[in-house]
Amino acid sequence: MKYIDLRSDTVTQPTPEMREAMYKAEVGDDVYGEDPTVRKLEEMAAEMLGKEAAMLVTSGTQGNQVSIMTHTHPGEEIILEENSHIITYEVGGIGYLAGVQAKTLKGNKGVLNPEDVEKAIRPKNIHFPETSLICLENTHNRAGGTVTPIEVMKKIYEIAQKHGIPVHLDGARIFNAATYLKVDVKEIAKYADSVMFCLSKGLCAPIGSIVVGTKEFIERARKYRKMLGGGMRQAGFIAAAGIVALEKMTKRLQEDHDNARLLAEGLKNIPGIDLDMETVQTNIVMTDISGTGMTGREFSLKLKEHGVLVNGGDDFSVRFVTHYYITKEDVKKALSAIEKVVREKH
Ligand SMILES: *Cc1c(COP(=O)(O)O)cnc(C)c1O
Repeated sequence: MKYIDLRSDTVTQPTPEMREAMYKAEVGDDVYGEDPTVRKLEEMAAEMLGKEAAMLVTSGTQGNQVSIMTHTHPGEEIILEENSHIITYEVGGIGYLAGVQAKTLKGNKGVLNPEDVEKAIRPKNIHFPETSLICLENTHNRAGGTVTPIEVMKKIYEIAQKHGIPVHLDGARIFNAATYLKVDVKEIAKYADSVMFCLSKGLCAPIGSIVVGTKEFIERARKYRKMLGGGMRQAGFIAAAGIVALEKMTKRLQEDHDNARLLAEGLKNIPGIDLDMETVQTNIVMTDISGTGMTGREFSLKLKEHGVLVNGGDDFSVRFVTHYYITKEDVKKALSAIEKVVREKH
């Protein structure tokens, strides 16, 4: 059975063009700096994001952790949104790997308030840890793919600069943010000193993320990548798919956003399913299904019998994610399956 897979954009498979590019990729030992395809991808990524240099990493998590290790020293403090990916889904890495502590702030639908950020910066005092990094997330995953506006990014960046603190952007889905804002991705990246973004997820590459920043930053980051086991050899096979991701897949994300909106509008009309349309901005739809009398897990198991996959846990929240392999037809089919499952329960 071919499932309509709305669990995540991470389930996307490499496209035929990517497979072809991977098959034909010219490769070398990238730890020696000799893989021409990795070099090409890194140059392309730096150019697109408007930064001096870029580095291919194995995953978004590795990219964030390496960036934090490069920006900070043990014993320092970093500022993050309380539901950020780095806090929630990176296995406590900032404490274990970078040895820093977190000052978490409550965002509004994933967006930090610049005034809160400024207040959270520690003054000079012998007792206090030094604030050495501000992390932003755009789009914000747990808030439902919400976008931080350019003006907010700019304000936070100006505050950071005033205090001499760098900004790291977890831009796993930065191209979704740029698509929503209808701006070149550089316009977002320019308000961060380093940016991580994923080639996997909505861009359909099978493996890999990118970190961009200054030449000096990337040079130091390469050591931490090596330390974490991210020094890969003939990584050009991965990079080849990444090049196709950047060239082709970054330009078609509006389609996923349109499908997410169509899905959200349909879900909103199903009794027992609640959602905030304001957060439906990109390719993620977060719902509260408590009104259906099912937990997320029950709901997802029932839905699977109807050929639709979603991620549901023991609470009542269910997340739907659209991507390249979800068509408008799939959205319509998924909606009628969801209606059936909800009706059967009543
Ligand atoms: C997916 C994601 C990551 C981590 O990427 P992995 O490749 O899964 O390690 C980091 N930040 C955000 C916001 C993400 O959505």
